[in-house]
Amino acid sequence: MADRTNWALFMDIDGTLLDLAPTPDGVIIPKGLPQLLDSLARALGGALALVSGRSLDSIDRLFPGLWDAVGCHGTEWRLGGQTFTPQPSWSDGLVAGIEAARRRLPGVVLERKSVSLALHFRAAPEQGAAVRALAEAAVATDPRRFGLLEGKSVMEIIPAGNSKGSAIERFMRVPPYAGRRPVFAGDDVTDESGFTAVNGMGGHSIHVGDSPVSKAHFCFPDPLAMRHWLYGLNNALGGDQDHEHP
Ligand SMILES: [Mg+2]
Repeated sequence: MADRTNWALFMDIDGTLLDLAPTPDGVIIPKGLPQLLDSLARALGGALALVSGRSLDSIDRLFPGLWDAVGCHGTEWRLGGQTFTPQPSWSDGLVAGIEAARRRLPGVVLERKSVSLALHFRAAPEQGAAVRALAEAAVATDPRRFGLLEGKSVMEIIPAGNSKGSAIERFMRVPPYAGRRPVFAGDDVTDESGFTAVNGMGGHSIHVGDSPVSKAHFCFPDPLAMRHWLYGLNNALGGDQDHEHP
């Protein structure tokens, strides 16, 4: 991985930068991580973006408004201070129907994001099959408008045609990303579109955690190893070093 000053760095959050928690709000931000990312962003000329299934609002609660970001699996983004958020494509009736069904599934949480609906079952793994059936039925009401994303203990209904990969390709067409070599790190099946995108652009793909099959070219065992690698990258790029190792 030579010539690192010319990289554009795209990173998933949960399971990649941060250890997974039972609920999205339960994650812990390691001390020193925001400072490390801030330093990396400056060392890379601003070409650093968080690429998450979380909404932009949720990303900003973790890392308040510091960097470019892609939320809800590529359906909304902030680039150079400008935010793009499309209108939700579902009806209140569809949401009410999903919520009514969810109430019969103890331990399942419906998260209503700005442009997507996520059904989390990390706290109730036995509900996985029922959650999948519920999500598939919701998407089947209008497959041209809705797409289904399956993640770790979550089924998510998103606007059709969006992915982390399409968002990375969009960023790579404009400054400060254009002309750089994209690097994307992720941990989940929803990150595979991002791996495919950066592989196709001659970039580097990094899978974090256990996975029997991934298109990523490199792998790290866990988020701690990912953070350790970022710490070394920051040093190699001559970034600030007055923060703790996260
Ligand atoms: Mg993740």
